[in-house]
Amino acid sequence: MSCTHLDAVQTNRPRAKGCEECLKTGDEWVHLRLCRTCGHVGCCDDSKNKHATKHFHQTKHPIITSLEPGEGWSWCYVDEVALELA
Ligand SMILES: [Zn+2]
Ligand SMILES: [Zn+2]
Ligand SMILES: [Zn+2]
Repeated sequence: MSCTHLDAVQTNRPRAKGCEECLKTGDEWVHLRLCRTCGHVGCCDDSKNKHATKHFHQTKHPIITSLEPGEGWSWCYVDEVALELA
C-alpha cells in the first residue's frame, strides 16, 4: 500500500446523516463520503458542490470512505490511491 496517511484514520462514525453543508443550504447530493479523521460527511465529486473534496482542501484530512450501501472503498486525496480499510 502506497499511502502513508493511515494514522489519520481515527473514526468510522459519520457525524451527520447527509452532507453537512448541503443540509444547511438545502442543496442535493449524489453520493456521500465520510472523512476518516473527523467524521465529516460531504458530497462526492459527482455532486455539484463537491463538499468532500472541499473539506480535504480546507482541513487537509486525507482519507475518505464511501458511505454508499454496498461500497466499502476508501480514497487518499494526497496519494490519489484507493484503499481497503477495515
Ligand atoms: Zn495517503
Ligand atoms: Zn475531516
Ligand atoms: Zn455537499
